[in-house]
Amino acid sequence: MSTSAPLRSGTFEQRLIRRGDADYEATRAGSMWNQRVPARYPEVIVIARDVVDVVAAVRWAAKRELRVSVKSGGHSWSGNHLRDDGLLLDVAALDEVTVDRARRRATTGPGRKSNELAAMLGRQGLAFPTGHCLGVCVGGYLLQGGFGWNGRAFGPACMSVVGLDIVTAEGELLHASEEENADLFWAARGSGAGFFGVVTRFHLKVYDKPRVTAAAGQTFPLSALEPVLRWMHAIRAEVPASVELQLAITGDAFGVGGPGIELFAPVFANSLRDAWRALRFLDSPIRRLAKRRIPMLPVPLSALYRLVMTHYPSARYGVDNLWTHAHVDELLPHLEHAARTLPPPPSHLLWLNWSPPAGARDARMAFSMEDETYLALYGCWQRAEDDARYAPWAVSNVRRMQHLASGCQLADENLGERPARFVSDDHLQRLDAIRLERDPRGTFQTWMGRP
Ligand SMILES: Cc1cc2nc3c(=O)[nH]c(=O)nc-3n(C[C@H](O)[C@H](O)[C@H](O)COP(=O)(O)OP(=O)(O)OC[C@H]3O[C@@H](n4cnc5c(N)ncnc54)[C@H](O)[C@@H]3O)c2cc1C
Repeated sequence: MSTSAPLRSGTFEQRLIRRGDADYEATRAGSMWNQRVPARYPEVIVIARDVVDVVAAVRWAAKRELRVSVKSGGHSWSGNHLRDDGLLLDVAALDEVTVDRARRRATTGPGRKSNELAAMLGRQGLAFPTGHCLGVCVGGYLLQGGFGWNGRAFGPACMSVVGLDIVTAEGELLHASEEENADLFWAARGSGAGFFGVVTRFHLKVYDKPRVTAAAGQTFPLSALEPVLRWMHAIRAEVPASVELQLAITGDAFGVGGPGIELFAPVFANSLRDAWRALRFLDSPIRRLAKRRIPMLPVPLSALYRLVMTHYPSARYGVDNLWTHAHVDELLPHLEHAARTLPPPPSHLLWLNWSPPAGARDARMAFSMEDETYLALYGCWQRAEDDARYAPWAVSNVRRMQHLASGCQLADENLGERPARFVSDDHLQRLDAIRLERDPRGTFQTWMGRP
């Protein structure tokens, strides 16, 4: 599987990959991380080598009234970048990183993988809330919000974006920050798959790396679902911000030998003592129900990445999600239904404790949708013949409880199949107004599920 296609040589026009070319289908399908590649066919694909190519591609498309979609790492579950008839611009090759340790600043191209950025910063004693999985690129990740390691303490990653270099619908390269092109800066931080420009570089604020990364876990049989969820709900506001407490309900829970619940609690602290204190809430009555208890152990971030990836093998996926502050009494019947109907392992339902929300109070960016609890459903299977059987699981289960949702997260969006609220209403109005001014001819694609 490849998410960045080989580069053709020659002039810009010679490097266009058109529908019908021998390498078209491999490039189109290879642009997706999700192996369930949608049947949507861009007219032309451009693999940009540099910013000059990005400018040329946007101008070339605008002249021909082709709509532009952009791809960095291709990790959009829904394949948002694959649209019919337009121009697909792949910017994965723009992946240069610079670090200014003294100023606690870094810059990165959109094609840099989140985990690589974490390792580069880590070697200099620095950190950034990079995404939890190997291979996710910063391009799509930072535009949509970005829920990363130590994210409850740092906030959604887009809060730490201090500037962006953007190629606009006019094909102009601009810098956007609080001081310059502030409308684009506001829009880029949270508009995700509906952003109307091509980001060629992000300017980031970075942080001192916490001295200790550790994690603890407990696993339960599915029969313990109700008490475990009631406990999660009851303690949600007490969990220290340094802990990313989460549950995965899955068909093959670690140490259970069948359907069950995996509780995972990574913690970031400056001493083992602080980490241990932060996890003291795990010493709770539900411990008795656990089949396995893994005490707090120091774990390098690279090992956390590998651990998380056991839940996300290369496969076909159907995904959907919701934010909610509903009471557990209301959620429970729907979560039980989702658990009973799970596709094969490692399909799972994630319950992430995000309480109290970290970023929505910030009116300085488009990002505005978060809540106490994040629920995401990841259906995962291997064979195309099983698409009809398993693909509807995530969307149909979220539909059952969408009356309890405040909105959805753009990270795991499936807006083409289930349109949902992804920013606050006033922020959406403002995004539409900025789009009209910056991209009046609609050169850039917008979110699926919207005209
Ligand atoms: C296995 C897996 C694990 C994940 N884990 C996390 C996680 O821990 N936390 C989290 O927050 N999210 C997570 N995600 C979701 C992921 O962050 C989003 O799908 C994100 O959009 C992926 O970025 P990308 O550049 O790899 O993907 P792409 O598919 O390339 O980008 C998604 C969309 O963003 C826009 N875009 C991308 N690059 C640019 C650009 N340079 N300029 C303008 N627009 C652009 C396009 O509209 C594009 O369709 C995960 C996804 C997967 C598949």
